[in-house]
Amino acid sequence: MLLGSASTSGRRTFNLLGHPLASVVSTSANSGLPTSDTTFAAVPSRGDLNVGCVVRKALLETLANELPQGTIRYSSKVVRIQNQGCTFKSIHLEDGTYLTTKVLIGCDGVNSVVADHLGFSRPSFVGRSAVRGFVHYEDGHGFDPKLFFFFGRGVRYGIIPCNDHGLYWFLTFSPSPQENNAAEKGIEEDPIKLKQFILSKLGKVPDRFRAVFERTELESMVCAPLRFRHPWELLWGNISKDGVCLAGDALHPMTPDIGQGACAALEESVILARELAQALKTNHSSDSLEKEQRRIENSLEKYARERRWRSVDLVSTAYMVGVMQQSHGAVMNFLRDKIMAKFLVGAQMKKADFDCGTLTASAS
Ligand SMILES: Cc1cc2nc3c(=O)[nH]c(=O)nc-3n(C[C@H](O)[C@H](O)[C@H](O)COP(=O)(O)OP(=O)(O)OC[C@H]3O[C@@H](n4cnc5c(N)ncnc54)[C@H](O)[C@@H]3O)c2cc1C
Repeated sequence: MLLGSASTSGRRTFNLLGHPLASVVSTSANSGLPTSDTTFAAVPSRGDLNVGCVVRKALLETLANELPQGTIRYSSKVVRIQNQGCTFKSIHLEDGTYLTTKVLIGCDGVNSVVADHLGFSRPSFVGRSAVRGFVHYEDGHGFDPKLFFFFGRGVRYGIIPCNDHGLYWFLTFSPSPQENNAAEKGIEEDPIKLKQFILSKLGKVPDRFRAVFERTELESMVCAPLRFRHPWELLWGNISKDGVCLAGDALHPMTPDIGQGACAALEESVILARELAQALKTNHSSDSLEKEQRRIENSLEKYARERRWRSVDLVSTAYMVGVMQQSHGAVMNFLRDKIMAKFLVGAQMKKADFDCGTLTASAS
């Protein structure tokens, strides 16, 4: 599930957004009282920023349906990458197969093998974990189309209507050293324990919100530790090199606090498609392999320049927003609930308002 803005640019438009959401309502988990209600209309945008949930399965199916049959090869884990001369990359799969390619885009998530190949270190654990869940209401859930966020008591959680019948929720928490030793392992392995743990962390929350968590089926929850890439690595690292580049979580694993990880991956797919289409244009078909390779490398370098600062910005903002929204203690509670509430939501929404252009290449 991701929060995103629906773009109406480009030749084809797919409307995958669920219910358009009108505002973000923040509530203190300490007091149970609302601290801000920010409408999306108040966020400066280019006029086509619609916020809503996109169901991951629907997005993947829509993208896959656009490709010729047989383009996607499933269950093909990349285990090693080697340069073959200056032009080709040899990709070794777990089942022993070798593939040869001129371009390799590593979008293999937070444990990216391609990021290893480009010299990035493994993303760091941020000391927080996240649980996600989904609840279906046969007769409708009755919630307004708003994002409901709760902060304080060392947790940060939210409930988001996807449509009239589905609610998505998340909760992030910092395992205490004790929980780390005993309960944390148990939590990931035992959904009953996980649910009890979540219910114990909600704080002062109106009953109708608590009921969402109580109603969640055990198999509809997933829990995972949160990891991110240090921003300085993104400043200095090789986002692209010798026809290989990174996109999505492989490039910028970030905490989920501004809901932009998957949105940024989509931005990258648009920019990459545009740049590579330009580099591989058919009217260059008589060029030598070396010339073509140089064009590919130039296009990936241009892509890397476009994404470097955006990635640094998103990873850093997400981290800072998470620290402020999840921390506790009297001073932090006061600052977050009385002074920063609107600012933090505004920062989140501003990051979503990004124009990555259209798929059509500019005439150059
Ligand atoms: C609690 C939580 C809430 C979130 N909320 C939002 C939100 O509201 N909005 C938003 O935009 N983002 C959100 N995100 C982030 C979002 O889920 C990720 O940024 C997004 O899924 C990244 O997509 P990706 O394709 O880069 O990586 P993934 O989704 O991780 O996909 C990677 C793919 O690569 C494959 N793969 C892995 N290793 C290999 C290998 N060696 N060889 C071949 N294939 C491989 C995997 O099987 C997988 O299919 C949230 C994340 C969390 C944890």
